[in-house]
Amino acid sequence: MSTIQDAVTTARESFNSGITKSYDFRLKQLQALLQLVEENSELIEEAITKDFKKPTFEVNLFETTTAKNEIRNVIHKLKGWMEPAKVEKPLPYIMDEVFIHSEPYGVVAIISPWNYPFMLCISPLVGAIAAGNCAIIKPSEITPNCAEILSKLIPRYLNPKCYHVVTGGVPETTTLLEQRFDYIFYTGSSHVGKIIQKAASKYLTPVTLELGGKTPVYVDSTADINLAVRRILWGKCLNAGQSCIAPDYVLCTKEVQEDFIKSAKNTLKTWYGNDAKQSPNFARIVNSNHFRRINKLLNDTDANTAIGGRHDIQDLFIEPTILKDVNLSDPIMQEEIFGPILPIVNVKTAQEATAVVNKGEKPLAVYVFSNDKQVQDMFLKDTSSGNLLINDTMMHFSCDTIPFGGVGNSGIGAYHGKFSFDTFSHRKGTVIKKLDKVGEYMNSSRYPPYTKTNLQMISFLTKKRKWPSFPFLKQVVSFFVGVMAMYIFMSRVQNK
Ligand code: NAD
Repeated sequence: MSTIQDAVTTARESFNSGITKSYDFRLKQLQALLQLVEENSELIEEAITKDFKKPTFEVNLFETTTAKNEIRNVIHKLKGWMEPAKVEKPLPYIMDEVFIHSEPYGVVAIISPWNYPFMLCISPLVGAIAAGNCAIIKPSEITPNCAEILSKLIPRYLNPKCYHVVTGGVPETTTLLEQRFDYIFYTGSSHVGKIIQKAASKYLTPVTLELGGKTPVYVDSTADINLAVRRILWGKCLNAGQSCIAPDYVLCTKEVQEDFIKSAKNTLKTWYGNDAKQSPNFARIVNSNHFRRINKLLNDTDANTAIGGRHDIQDLFIEPTILKDVNLSDPIMQEEIFGPILPIVNVKTAQEATAVVNKGEKPLAVYVFSNDKQVQDMFLKDTSSGNLLINDTMMHFSCDTIPFGGVGNSGIGAYHGKFSFDTFSHRKGTVIKKLDKVGEYMNSSRYPPYTKTNLQMISFLTKKRKWPSFPFLKQVVSFFVGVMAMYIFMSRVQNK
């Protein structure tokens, strides 16, 4: 455990030396990280496939390719992001410099889950480096091959004093959380998220919690059902349903349910043949604990199995399975499934569907398949979720110009693209005034002795007004206020 403390101490000393703050340093580390992924893609892919037979195509697309693109984007944009952000100046500050300076928090902890074991370590790390922090990365113990490769490669490519990988499970993470951090970025279950937030509160450390939960899908009869089925099953079968934003369950009418099942049978046959177990395109459940958990949900739910249902604990295989006519009170509807089982719950209307969504915890994402603008609008305005995606699943993840994250039980904070840089930066609001005589005179009404005239003057200057959209109006007004102040100032000096 002393290595954990040593790592944090070394990172703290490095941060305090100021080394991570320059643009050049950040850029070099990001370039080195890109090189790490480019030179070791095959090794990374092998490790993850060893961990849970994730198809190489999926590892390549959602782990290494995603990571490389994320790093490239930050390399292209970092300089601009580091510039002070100009803001609107209220009238009393018109002569001053007013801006937001993004400064690094310091030493950050990045604690990651197993389902995308490489990308969910690298993606927050990119934000942490870009913002000028040092970082301690804790990959999941459930995917040990990926954790090992990260612990070997990161110190080899990145500055080993600033960036450390700590491996291990709950005891190691607990020791890690006893250390003082300036920021904690956690991805994982809502249950452990609460443990993280409690630990962070000891030092009032700010946190991002990227959590999970049940992600609902609504499908209505205006949607192209074959297309909807393909997009929903893709989200459900990718990584064998072990994605935080995998569609968890479907809400639709009985009629749509029948069409959905018919279409799903054809789609699954086209993708995986008659036996998904023989297909190289379908991942396995990560371990026997998760296998038993998912299987228990399946066994305890008294619903019709419309498609699939076969499983094999030796191979940690669960077939893509669709359950129909599921009740909201069934065990499978009580927790995040995180596996390749799709329950369908019947609702009569879109209003009923929004009521079901609103009854549960706020989801990480909501998916709606409908061509009806009113229905799309209803989900946008009448439900709350981390993200909303209309007519597709999962794809919002790679749209890095919108924030990715949860709300309520599905998380606190968000990241991706510029939002990652902002997440790992303290945004320091800054005002720079000049030590000049005229400015001092204009501001002098605040000083004692307090008078009614001074109070009126301050109220006039600080009153919030709706300015007509006339360019430079504020500057013109401030010019005349300045001339007036100068005139009064000069006439007083002459009268003395
Ligand atoms: P998890 O919470 O069990 O583990 C995540 C990390 O927390 C691991 O590094 C683990 O070592 C550590 N941990 C586990 N128990 C701990 C404890 N008692 N004290 C301290 N640390 C502990 O999550 P998981 O099973 O690896 O991942 C699955 C969950 O993560 C799902 O709920 C999924 O929805 C969610 N998830 C969310 C996102 C997102 O971006 N929002 C992404 C992936 C996964």
